[in-house]
Amino acid sequence: MLINMKQLLEVAKEHRFAVGAFNVADSNFVRVVVEEAEKNNSPAIIAVHPTELAFTKDSFFNYVVSRIKNSPVPFVLHLDHGDSLASVMRAVHAGFSSVMIDGSLLPFEENIRVTKEVVDVSHKIGVSVEGELGTIGNTGTTIEGGLTEVIYTKPEDAAEFVEQTGVDSLAVAIGTCHGIYPKGVTPKLRMDVLKSIKEIVDIPLVLHGGSANPDEEIAEAVKIGIQKVNISSDYKFAFFKKCREILATTELWDPNAVYPDCIDEAKKVVKYKMELFNSIGKADCYKDVPAWRSELS
Ligand SMILES: [Zn+2]
Repeated sequence: MLINMKQLLEVAKEHRFAVGAFNVADSNFVRVVVEEAEKNNSPAIIAVHPTELAFTKDSFFNYVVSRIKNSPVPFVLHLDHGDSLASVMRAVHAGFSSVMIDGSLLPFEENIRVTKEVVDVSHKIGVSVEGELGTIGNTGTTIEGGLTEVIYTKPEDAAEFVEQTGVDSLAVAIGTCHGIYPKGVTPKLRMDVLKSIKEIVDIPLVLHGGSANPDEEIAEAVKIGIQKVNISSDYKFAFFKKCREILATTELWDPNAVYPDCIDEAKKVVKYKMELFNSIGKADCYKDVPAWRSELS
């Protein structure tokens, strides 16, 4: 079932679990996420960064939408880090039910203006919107970028941002970084910042850069009130680690011979994350949620 992010995360908030958002840029990774979600009866988010959309091409999502629409478990197809109204509209045109507009590097007032513009257009067509306030760090290993230094989200700014823009969910900066941390670097999440935001912001909160943080910290953040955790690097890493092994030790070249074991390795990471987020079995909580735009189809 395809639903939007507001539908997905409201239920997660009510039942106190988080949903993994997994970045995909080809059909192998779509299979990893969709098949593992179905196996574990867990909701999941298929996230696509603008650079991934540029690589896959828009028509790829005809396949993705038809696959998830016909699944018994709920999915959201979400644009990750949209950078303009134009990139958001491209995703909507390709069938996405949810978008992020990332104005976090802009001055506060400008971030509000750009985000509100996307919210006003998207809400008219039933597409939910995630905004971002504060900055996610950057380990220098990913396409997603970020700043080398994290600027923590200020709780009072978050409340004003949500009020003025009307976003459905908010990505907060509490100390995570995009990418895989270099050896010797231990990230530390600021639970006090998260708690203060949670006290005055009622919409679902999002954690970016969720790869490779200590499990206990992620689990605690979910308990405090994170409803969506973005995962990209560490399940892709598992896939290609296996891929490198196979290519280094065999003469195989057929995709259907090389990829199955890689898919299985990535699936193990997805399952592990679903357990951590407490989303396994939670597809049952969506029995009364209508499919997205069911009134139009
Ligand atoms: Zn991100």
